[in-house]
Amino acid sequence: MKATTLAVTAGALAPTAALPVAGPLHLSAVSFYADADALDASLDGSGYSYGRIRAPNAEALEQALAALEGAEACVAYASGMAALRALWDSLSLKAGDVAMVPADGYGASLALLKRLAAERSVTLRLQSFTAPDVAAHLAEAKPKLVFLESVTNPLLSVPDLPTLCAEAHAAGATVAVDATFCSPLGQRPLSHGADLVLHSTTKWINGHSDALGGVVSGARARIEPMRAARILTGELLGPFEAYLTLRGVRTLPVRMKAHGENALALARALEASGRVTAVRYPGLPSHPQHSVARRVLDVESAGFGGLLAFELPKGGRAEAFRFLESVKLARPAPSLGDVATLVMHAASASARRMTADERERAGISERLIRVSVGLEDPSEIAADLLQAIDCALR
Ligand code: PLP
Repeated sequence: MKATTLAVTAGALAPTAALPVAGPLHLSAVSFYADADALDASLDGSGYSYGRIRAPNAEALEQALAALEGAEACVAYASGMAALRALWDSLSLKAGDVAMVPADGYGASLALLKRLAAERSVTLRLQSFTAPDVAAHLAEAKPKLVFLESVTNPLLSVPDLPTLCAEAHAAGATVAVDATFCSPLGQRPLSHGADLVLHSTTKWINGHSDALGGVVSGARARIEPMRAARILTGELLGPFEAYLTLRGVRTLPVRMKAHGENALALARALEASGRVTAVRYPGLPSHPQHSVARRVLDVESAGFGGLLAFELPKGGRAEAFRFLESVKLARPAPSLGDVATLVMHAASASARRMTADERERAGISERLIRVSVGLEDPSEIAADLLQAIDCALR
């Protein structure tokens, strides 16, 4: 063979009977068949031929997450935001329909939903799903979609999901839950009556901050049309990201248990220190929905979750930024769910895309710090945060 042909064909791995313990990473976006009929059938999805139609690593992740979620099916996207957009598209809301969405949730989700609603002249109703009047608002607004966060970002409020699902269904809504903060170990919204569950897999599910991703799970009848649409929109998760995310799934149960234990220890230490105000952690008896959390979170598997928030007792953004610059062990980073402790100034990060007025109404102050509690020794995390709080207030 000439060099040009050799360059293209030499060095192909021979098939082997040995089965790898670590699952394979299929980087090839294209597969070929000796049998033209098999190639033809693969283009309808019976086999792998073109990576936008079917891809083995994304499918392996989807199967694992459907199983953990207790769902018939799961579909994976390039990010949590892409998953949210696809979920919205799948509902085909029409002009005049109402969608009820969190007033106190992730700011970028709200920004995206505002944009999508405006495109279709859908009326967006912003609602705190832990407010006492939520049942009356659901009955009056008769939304087609109720979208909520199972534990809210960044304030860790815990809606009463089974009650809300029943009320929303009675009003005629489809219920979709962003359960990113819980992971499938901390809550399985479908078992509480939700129709669809979404995760940014970038967070706990991946667990190591090395891949973006998002998934939606639910009944096959809801998910398969989304998968079919994804072949055309091309928003699927790439193979390497799917591979890394599935590797994260393998340790998710042990990680979530440890994150939950460490977060509870840190929450107690911060509250007992008296050096911060308003420690928000669903596992503390002082949390406004502590008894709801006991009922709706899977406390045995993941405690009350790995996230907490607190307020510096005085000052504003300058003091909060000084806190971020004073941590030594924790890392100031705009994400969550890593094995390392991450701290974040909510008003300038997760709530950055909200207006100042929206932040104020949601209760997100300039002094609010969110902590994604890592797997380090909990007493060392507490010591680090407390010294940084002292530095910030000095
Ligand atoms: N949902 C929640 C609760 C989030 O916190 C985030 C990201 O921070 C997203 C969705 C969006 O996910 P991604 O960044 O993977 O697009």
